[in-house]
Amino acid sequence: DVTATKGNEFEDYFLKRELLMGIFEKGFEKPSPIQEESIPIALTGSDILARAKNGTGKTAAFCIPVLEKIDQVNNVIQAVILVPTRELALQTSHVCKELGKHMNIQIMVTTGGTSLKDDIMRLHQPVHLLVGTPGRILDLAKRGICKLKDCAMLAMDEADKLLTPDFQPTVEQLIHFMPADRQILMFSATYPATVKEFKDRYLRNPYIVNLMDELTLKGLQINQSIIFCNSVNRVELLAKKITEIGYSCFYIHAKMPQNHRNRVFHDFRNGECRNLVCNDLFTRGIDIQAVNVVINFDFPKNSDTYLHRVGRSGRFGHLGLAVNLITYEDRFNLYRIEQELGTEIKQIPTVIDQKIY
Ligand code: ADP
Ligand code: MG
Repeated sequence: DVTATKGNEFEDYFLKRELLMGIFEKGFEKPSPIQEESIPIALTGSDILARAKNGTGKTAAFCIPVLEKIDQVNNVIQAVILVPTRELALQTSHVCKELGKHMNIQIMVTTGGTSLKDDIMRLHQPVHLLVGTPGRILDLAKRGICKLKDCAMLAMDEADKLLTPDFQPTVEQLIHFMPADRQILMFSATYPATVKEFKDRYLRNPYIVNLMDELTLKGLQINQSIIFCNSVNRVELLAKKITEIGYSCFYIHAKMPQNHRNRVFHDFRNGECRNLVCNDLFTRGIDIQAVNVVINFDFPKNSDTYLHRVGRSGRFGHLGLAVNLITYEDRFNLYRIEQELGTEIKQIPTVIDQKIY
């Protein structure tokens, strides 16, 4: 995935010098395939519906055109990046801040579960780019505090997740606060049928990018691992068991207080522990390069969840391994997921080839 297919360079996009500096300082040398496909098209103002595997660089594929198109001397909100979780909002705003390090752009991150008063204060100062979860941004827009009438760009990361019944009405309401000719960039690794309806209603002649190919898992050395359970209770139970038998592990789930979640996430990312037990709420889009093993302690119920979990390892061309624990009850799900993903989930061989695993 690291090798560009068309031999493009970031210099080819005629980006602002300050942005190009940020890109190179972040260590990006060449655009990844999804970036090659999306950045030039997004710069023309076209709507995009893009699909690419996890870990292929989708974030920068929409952040770079968004940053490029923001007018630094016009102190209004010009772009919104929507994401489904708080953790992802923080991570994405961080990427924008790094890429835009040499630009004069004010980036604000806002999510539920934080002080509304602070957000209101913050919005009295200039903000060019807003990154956040739909509920809070809609709340601020309805109060007239967050003005979106000049917001010409909307990027939706984990777009399919943003179009689940929990989120979709909020997202649609939010779009109505934006100008009619706004540009929409949608990115995800999975696209269920609901996306088509939304696309037909809100995107104008979108450019479709589809870079999916099948999952590949090859040889690796274990750095950090994420262990998935299907419920909050089982996360707590498993974490307790693992600790009891003398291994260290962190755990995270949606019912924990936000500050606690943030701390665990931060410490895990810093490598303070090698194992993290969690449920699915945690995982969308989260990019921790050191994670190269995913264990499905509970086997997921559908192929989208499988793909998102397994996508936590093997980021950006690194190798990853997924291990599934399958019970008798899981056998139909296993079969269905294999069918849907067109891949074979193989049994762990009795003799492990040290060269491969
Ligand atoms: P996705 O959203 O597709 O799952 P991310 O945007 O989280 O993937 O990117 C995965 C990793 O690849 C990140 O650590 C990111 O910094 C890195 N990355 C992205 N683009 C490039 C690039 N052009 N060159 C090198 N690394 C990159
Ligand atoms: Mg992502």
